Amino acid sequence: MTGHEWQPVVGLEIHVQLKTRTKMFCRCANGYGGGENTQTCPVCLGFPGALPVMNRQAVEWTIKLGLALDCEIAPRAVFARKNYFYPDLPKGYQISQYDLPSCTNGKVLVPTPDGDHEIGIVRAHLEEDAAKTTHVGGRTGRIGGADYSLVDFNRGGTPLVEIVTGPDVHSSEDARRFLQLLRQTIVELGISDAEMEKGTLRVDANVSVRPAGSSELRTRCELKNMNSFRFVAQGIDAEVKRQIALYEAGEEVVQETYDFDAGSGTLTARRSKEEADDYRYFPEPDLVPVEPPAELVERLRAEVPESPARRIRRIEGELDLDRAVVLVTGGLDGLWQETVEAGAERVAAANVIANRLAGADAAAVEPAELAKLVEARDRIPRTALDEALGKVAEPGFSAAPYLEQEAVSDSAELEPIVARILEANPGQVAAYRGGKEGLLGFFVGQVMKETGGKANARAVSELVREKLQA
Ligand SMILES: [Zn+2]
Repeated sequence: MTGHEWQPVVGLEIHVQLKTRTKMFCRCANGYGGGENTQTCPVCLGFPGALPVMNRQAVEWTIKLGLALDCEIAPRAVFARKNYFYPDLPKGYQISQYDLPSCTNGKVLVPTPDGDHEIGIVRAHLEEDAAKTTHVGGRTGRIGGADYSLVDFNRGGTPLVEIVTGPDVHSSEDARRFLQLLRQTIVELGISDAEMEKGTLRVDANVSVRPAGSSELRTRCELKNMNSFRFVAQGIDAEVKRQIALYEAGEEVVQETYDFDAGSGTLTARRSKEEADDYRYFPEPDLVPVEPPAELVERLRAEVPESPARRIRRIEGELDLDRAVVLVTGGLDGLWQETVEAGAERVAAANVIANRLAGADAAAVEPAELAKLVEARDRIPRTALDEALGKVAEPGFSAAPYLEQEAVSDSAELEPIVARILEANPGQVAAYRGGKEGLLGFFVGQVMKETGGKANARAVSELVREKLQA
């Protein structure tokens, strides 16, 4: 079957480790820090007769996340035993909410250039993480070909929320946008650091394709082992391409699980699972159902901050969608707003904050001082600006000493340097005069370099343009 367009159909499964002080069902410390197998006890090691006790904080945080994702909160959720045997699971079962999860039927509106895309949240449920297995000696770090395997039970019993979306993601770009919003939501709730590199946020993707315009759901394949949002997007693109090629060659897609190797951009099939769903779930007899009082749910609802998606829509009118997304998903929109209120121009402030302060502690920056730097950015030497922005999050930072430094904008001083740069680059001069006006930045950059960053960029830019037109 060829000659028509294909639509990707993707559902995402996201696991988030909660950063509670203790584990899900025991009082062992939760998180990194101790040496291997030091944060364990009879409960999380599955000793016979040891009894689980529910972590109240984890239950409340799961409900709070559900509310942030517009979910219905179950008046009664039940933990079940999911039975399977694996060395990272000493009890022989995982405790997980199953047919009665805490949160169902939510949605996230993802702002895109062509309107909001709605991604349904089928469920968000609470469970415990397995221990961490390391396979040593193999080429791929997976069990096949390894010489031996090590298990660290510190991670076993960490509270884990699993979020399952509907098959509503129709491009790798939508997946990336959705995951960025979800991650920022989780971080702002203060319930997890949600870092993919550290495994506190993990994403699997169920991918299928269908003829555009149809509503059928075809055989899907699962992608695992993608440890950044970029790799999730690349993995989805690779899998979509593979499935379209199969259908167009008259073949069928076989349900399978793949690991995505970002290095080579290839998908490797795992050994096919036998009876994937035969976990013999039954209700966990050692735990009572989760029955949150209505007052608790309302208190948690009142604590949920304005969603990142809504903030993007609110500020994009004053900027544009891309800048709004960068600021909000970087947790920088609050600082931007305050800097603008302190007198900085909107777009200039957005550019300085997004390009220069990504990863900085936004809460530590004094907006009034930053606003002064934004306003002076073309007037003071670039080296002074760089230094000031590097220190702007330090306690007691003052812009004053940097503002006193004047960049060189005297054309008598700059002209000989400009002339020298143009003379040294005849090819680029000809190209510029032939219409490649983008080269202006190249010449300005050369002059700035020559002056050790002390020249006024705007003055240089004007001077270069003038000379090139001559
Ligand atoms: Zn324990």
